[in-house]
Amino acid sequence: MRQLLLVCALAAALCGPAAAQSPDVDALAATVDAKVQAWRRDIHQHPELGNRETRTAKLVADHLTALGFEDVRTGIATTGVTAVLRGGKPGPRIALRADMDALPVTERSGLPFESKVTTQFNGQTIGVMHACGHDAHTGILMGVAEALSSMKADLPGEILFIFQPAEEGPPDGEKGGADEMLAQGVFDRFKPEAVFGLHVWSTLNAGQVGYRSGPMMAASDRFKIVIKGRQTHGSRPWSGVDPIVAAADVIGTAQTIVSRRLNISRQPAVVSFGAIHGGIRFNIIPDEVELIGTIRTFDEDMRQQIFADLTNVAQSVAKAHGASAVSQVPDIVGTPVTSNNPALAARAAESLATALGAKNVVEMDLIMAAEDFSHFANQVPGFFFMVGATPKDQDASKAPSNHSPEFFLDEEALRVGTRAMLQVALDYQQAK
Ligand SMILES: [Zn+2]
Ligand SMILES: [Zn+2]
Repeated sequence: MRQLLLVCALAAALCGPAAAQSPDVDALAATVDAKVQAWRRDIHQHPELGNRETRTAKLVADHLTALGFEDVRTGIATTGVTAVLRGGKPGPRIALRADMDALPVTERSGLPFESKVTTQFNGQTIGVMHACGHDAHTGILMGVAEALSSMKADLPGEILFIFQPAEEGPPDGEKGGADEMLAQGVFDRFKPEAVFGLHVWSTLNAGQVGYRSGPMMAASDRFKIVIKGRQTHGSRPWSGVDPIVAAADVIGTAQTIVSRRLNISRQPAVVSFGAIHGGIRFNIIPDEVELIGTIRTFDEDMRQQIFADLTNVAQSVAKAHGASAVSQVPDIVGTPVTSNNPALAARAAESLATALGAKNVVEMDLIMAAEDFSHFANQVPGFFFMVGATPKDQDASKAPSNHSPEFFLDEEALRVGTRAMLQVALDYQQAK
């Protein structure tokens, strides 16, 4: 933007009278870089699982309160924090969102601020690690809050800061995450006209950012199917109903849902079985077999079609075997598609190019992972982008992925993420 302003000064006719005075984002970000790094390292060393982010939430809330933000609220959806920065000039209302939770993963990074925290998870002692980089997201957004606060008098509009818990999903039996924050009225109290978020990402190199217009990250749904037969001796199959053979046929026929029934010229989709449980002994045909798996889609109609088709396959194929099926497709309604509003994405991509140079802005392939930012972006136009985390001298396609015990964040990502988010937010606020 600095270069653009210089051109404007030399040839005002090219830019026209409406060109907004934009602050120097690089200089603005530089005032918080050291703090962002310190926050990120502190949070990294003290990771907390979903709905347990009490220390992290207090750090965030104390910071926003010290900055003089309005309406600082805590305890939303268990540990979520929101606050409003009201600029000194009229302008749009937007929301910026970060997530705060860590994962049950034992860290093997060897960093001086490596997590030594352990917890009980599903009856096992396991480490807790910011293996998805949400420590970086929280640190970056705290820095963005401070940087924007420092120019509050000149800032147009109002910005809602959202620090959400449990992006990776709440503990069993609990509610949590973005949808629970919405259920507790976050967008009722402050309705933004756009929402922005970012994620540090292993398949991009530090210095790069990536995005995609339209659908970008998949909807993720779980399913459970129980095939019910009738137990009998393995030597006398005609005396019972064999659920193992029926389950095998259900799995086979389910492969035709994506390959034969879905219009995959619209979007790709995946149906995967992840576990089969049934039987205890070589010569006993069991009563039932349980199948569980995951469904990934990028289109709501295709998502609903898979739910219906998989239910139909399970019940019809089981019936053909004289068995029956109890289908829960999905058994827990999962995360919807994360989709970038095309008009917003076009504007935000220009901001990313301004902040980082066009060569560092990458258009990404579809990502089969899911992200619960989608709940916010289903309410108002949203833009979500990826910030490269893998050191520049490494092949990012081979780097340990997010969620790996070896996931590594090059802290250049903090500088890039801070500048990118600042530029996206400021350009949006100053465009009107
Ligand atoms: Zn994750
Ligand atoms: Zn994540």
